[in-house]
Amino acid sequence: MEEKINAFMDEVKARNGHEPEFIQAVQEVAETVIPYIVKHDIYHGKNILLRMVEPERLLSFRVAWVDDDGEIHVNRGYRIQMNSAIGPYKGGLRFHPTVNASVLKFLAFEQVFKNSLTTLPMGGGKGGSDFDPKGKSDDEVMRFCHAFMLELNRHIGPNTDVPAGDIGVGAREIGFLFGMYKKIRNEFTGVLTGKGLSWGGSKIRPEATGYGTVYFAQSMLKTKNKDLKGKNVVISGSGNVAQFAAEKVLQLGGKVLTMSDSGGYVYDKDGIDTDKLAFVMDLKNNKRGRISEYASKYQSAEYHKGKTPWDVKCDIALPCATQNELDGEDAQNLIDNGCICVAEGANMPSTPEAIHAFHKAKILFAPGKASNAGGVATSGLEMSQNSLRISWTREEVDERLQGIMEDIHDSCIEYGKEEDGYCNYVKGANIAGFVKVADAMLAQGVI
Ligand code: NDP
Repeated sequence: MEEKINAFMDEVKARNGHEPEFIQAVQEVAETVIPYIVKHDIYHGKNILLRMVEPERLLSFRVAWVDDDGEIHVNRGYRIQMNSAIGPYKGGLRFHPTVNASVLKFLAFEQVFKNSLTTLPMGGGKGGSDFDPKGKSDDEVMRFCHAFMLELNRHIGPNTDVPAGDIGVGAREIGFLFGMYKKIRNEFTGVLTGKGLSWGGSKIRPEATGYGTVYFAQSMLKTKNKDLKGKNVVISGSGNVAQFAAEKVLQLGGKVLTMSDSGGYVYDKDGIDTDKLAFVMDLKNNKRGRISEYASKYQSAEYHKGKTPWDVKCDIALPCATQNELDGEDAQNLIDNGCICVAEGANMPSTPEAIHAFHKAKILFAPGKASNAGGVATSGLEMSQNSLRISWTREEVDERLQGIMEDIHDSCIEYGKEEDGYCNYVKGANIAGFVKVADAMLAQGVI
């Protein structure tokens, strides 16, 4: 088996050798899915996984824009249309200086499996730019978004490709992007998700990724007859996903000890309660400030510059910032400190060494493609509401979100339960996600 996996990976590396994040994501899938393919005749001789790792289309384009001082800047824009076997391409846009083809290909590849897991008819895609919204004025962000959409508009559409937000792309950016799409195409349509409530957005969409991650953690804990009540929870990030993961943890009776940003993390021994979380939301969403300011405001908190929060003793860890933010040593710290459950809110935040350590210690570990799928699932619900021209209540959307997270959890158990009863959620998510897409590709022939 190892030989088969290595031969497959050699081929992937030969074509994508300069894309480390993409290779990391493919390796994880190959290790779990190739043994499944070998056991199932219908996939033999179809080169199905090799077809899945090649994007259907990879778009790269110039984005030129003018800053407030009249200076012209050039960024690179991308859209990776990875797989449309089960529905229109769907996946976020990321604006961050680290964005490149490798990062977006890994995200697009993960998105294919994630979207399949949601049970909704959505293919996988991802896009973005190396533009950094940090430190830019609202007008500069608007000019950039408009310039970005001037090109992107010709490649997307409600039945073709429906982007959403991701790192650096929140409600403000989606508004500017949608405005330009509408202007160019002269149509008001559900081409982006994460829209404002008064112009086609869905209730609970902003909350969905964070809430969904915590719902998933809850399902995992339930398998051990445990819940979130009274549990100490360590969260990284302080953006969209982290904020609403924290909110749901508090609602379910847990205590949030940390939040972070790219500068460092804050540890509050008394817990980040609802009022303090409101301060973080205002700081990050309106004032666009730094998490260090939390420690200046609250005396119970310490700020750890340049550090990640994984050495803080906790029961549950929710990495909600970015890829590869939790390595093997961090994982060992968490395990040694008694952590029983890790659910990824971010995409691929744990390195392969970290995942190996979690599996070895047999603690509950959920990969982002399963545990953070609530965001794209609710985007799928936003698409349905746009098509039907109706708007569901908060309760209706939240109920559907909870149902979807439970279904994803069940799928992971179905494909991931091992002989000793331990659930390998990575294996479960990869195989469950693979089967639906692969079967659709087989039915559609070699295209
Ligand atoms: P935001 O831009 O709202 O927040 C990102 C957070 O992560 C910020 O606190 C940011 O700090 C921190 N961060 C970003 N890059 C780094 C880095 N290199 N090192 C340390 N911290 C970093 O993004 P989201 O909350 O939307 O996304 C967070 C993660 O969740 C990403 O992995 C994303 O792909 C994933 N995700 C998001 C979904 C969504 O619906 N938004 C859906 C599914 C997954 P700073 O402010 O300093 O940059």
